[in-house]
Parts: sequence; C-alpha cells; structure tokens
Amino acid sequence: MTDRSVELPIRQNWQDLANCLGVDPDLFFPERGASTREAKEVCRNCFVQDDCLEYALQNGEKFGIWGSMSERERRRIRRQRALRLVEEAERVEAPAAERVAAG
Ligand code: SF4
Repeated sequence: MTDRSVELPIRQNWQDLANCLGVDPDLFFPERGASTREAKEVCRNCFVQDDCLEYALQNGEKFGIWGSMSERERRRIRRQRALRLVEEAERVEAPAAERVAAG
C-alpha cells in the first residue's frame, strides 16, 4: 500500500505573523492621553492587522492598540456595527408587521 499522506504546512496563528512580535507590549497600552503614534507605526503594514482588530472587537478588548486602532476607534466601530444590526432587524421586521396589520 502506498503512503499518500502529504505533509501539511505547520498551522500558524495570526499572532505568529504579527509585526509586534518581540516589541515591548507596554507600547500598545499607553497611559491615558499618551500618544499612540509609535504603536500605530508598528501596526502599519502589519500583515494580520484585520485579524488583530477583529479579535479585539469579538473579545471586547477595552484597552490598548489592536489592529492599529485605539479604544475610542474600536468603540466607534462597535457602535456602527450595533446600529447596522438594529437597522437590518428593522428592515426584516417592518414587512412582517405590515402583513400582520393588513390581516
Ligand atoms: S495590528 Fe495587531 S498584530 Fe499587527 S502589529 Fe498591530 S497590534 Fe500587533
């Protein structure tokens, strides 16, 4: 019998490809009011920026720079997404309510 198994590439996490690997983590958790510019400079051109941001959004990370975005910037995205969900729900519910009202 022939062995047809192939060697799969080692599975990597997005974190393994981060630009910030080996960078002082304190840089990404600046004091309130301190500049985020240095951290964002590390994030610039980071191959996994979208994964990083999504991870932070999905896990409710409240502190630090993730995906090149500050806490305030992520809050804005969360609000926009929540608003979009409400609008979509209203779009779905409105025709159903009209059908019920029409009897
Ligand atoms: S985007 Fe995320 S993973 Fe990439 S450098 Fe910035 S903090 Fe690190």
